[in-house]
Amino acid sequence: MAVEAPTAPAPEGRVLATLNADGSRRWLRPRLSRGRFLTARRATGYALMALFVALPLIRVNGSPAVLLDIAQRRFHLFGSTFFPTDTLLVAVLFIAAFLAIFAATALFGRVWCGWACPQTVYMEFLFRPIERLFEGAPGSARAKRPTPAALKGAKHAAFLVCSFALANVFLAYFVGVDDLRHWMSRSPAEHPGSFALMAAVTGMMMFDFAYFREQTCLVACPYGRIQSVMLDRHSLIVSYDRARGEPRGRLNRGGAPAGEISLRVVPQARGDCIDCAMCVTTCPTGIDIREGLQMECVGCAQCIDACDSVMDKIGKPRGLIGYASQAMREGAARSILRPRLALYPALVALLLGAFVYLLVTKPVAEAAILPRQGAPFYPLGDGEIGNQVRLRIVNRGADAATFGVTPSPEAAALGVRVVTDAEPPVLAPSETHTMGVVVVAPSGAFSERGALEITLVVSDGRGLAKPLNFRMLGPAGDAPRPRSEKEEHE
Ligand code: SF4
Ligand code: SF4
Repeated sequence: MAVEAPTAPAPEGRVLATLNADGSRRWLRPRLSRGRFLTARRATGYALMALFVALPLIRVNGSPAVLLDIAQRRFHLFGSTFFPTDTLLVAVLFIAAFLAIFAATALFGRVWCGWACPQTVYMEFLFRPIERLFEGAPGSARAKRPTPAALKGAKHAAFLVCSFALANVFLAYFVGVDDLRHWMSRSPAEHPGSFALMAAVTGMMMFDFAYFREQTCLVACPYGRIQSVMLDRHSLIVSYDRARGEPRGRLNRGGAPAGEISLRVVPQARGDCIDCAMCVTTCPTGIDIREGLQMECVGCAQCIDACDSVMDKIGKPRGLIGYASQAMREGAARSILRPRLALYPALVALLLGAFVYLLVTKPVAEAAILPRQGAPFYPLGDGEIGNQVRLRIVNRGADAATFGVTPSPEAAALGVRVVTDAEPPVLAPSETHTMGVVVVAPSGAFSERGALEITLVVSDGRGLAKPLNFRMLGPAGDAPRPRSEKEEHE
């Protein structure tokens, strides 16, 4: 008897909200839903836009409030400068910031995505308003007509201008406003690399806001992907009150198309949801919140405003869609006493405490001896041996300081001295300087193997006395080796 091979289960009908069943892109044109949350988000969004622009411009202790200077390998954050040697400090700060976002997510769901993420802020409060200006508000008679090519072109030209402005703001965080101003005031031919970088970032912005849009939140953003592990049944999320809304009722729409309400209709449903789809057509990620919490929901609250206005029109109380946890929707009281809500803040407090401690105890300057270059040593007159030493000094304090190098008292007792013909360097705050000195010691002070362990002390007049161990090299035994021709030349 023939045995039938097992067949794979048929695929479910639901695909990503931004895709059609055949896998092609489903373009979303969400309706604008006015209401208290839109007003609050708009105010927040414009304040954040101003802040994003201002942060690289504001100066604290002479440095930009935020400058992630990767080329110079230092970060300026609100008056503090972090160098590569501060990796621990920066790591502690970033872990604390991530844990703070975890805590906010456990408490308020994707509040960051819906209210503060630059992707949402610029998309909803800059690019979509421009689109509505040129193509009409979604749902309006004008938007239903094909947009003339000239208006489409004008829209994309406006997008390009905004993308260019955003690219400049973005780059200001990495190169600083001074370099940016310099780039912009010169011909692209004078700095082709910088021009290419600016063009590439502008192109990325254009791609994101004109084409990729909500896909960034749905498929590209790692935070969006991992939010489900940060939420629990008590997290405050945008949710639909199923007990109140169901069974939803299809209405006699009085001739109004789906997504629009006719006030002439008579609701026949038993639940409060009149199935008008206003919450769906306003959603920027195209989902139906009535199907429960979904990964695509960015917590923007537009569906709350949409449904509230519907409830107002049909004389029902607001809140069919609102901020509530899954547990609250099932009748439980709101709970903020959860292990993770104790753990996250405790860890954040611990890390911030460690950060502050490390910050206030870090030295006001750094000094290190760089690897040798050229001849390891050379004989001087009077039976002395000289070693070239290169020092890298970083002024981490808030004031300019003058740096000097001397031998330790023990080394000085052996006859070691430091010779330089340059003036002691004066370093501005956050300035890095490489200085060369010659350390001189009597040839008789070297060991049989031609080495002399000494300590050099870098001081800055502010109490810094940084000891640096250095192995001087000299001739084996105590007889100076004659210099080679090459060494003479060097
Ligand atoms: S907007 Fe409110 S009433 Fe309309 S479909 Fe959505 S939940 Fe139902
Ligand atoms: S379901 Fe509501 S809160 Fe979630 S993304 Fe859509 S409109 Fe925003």
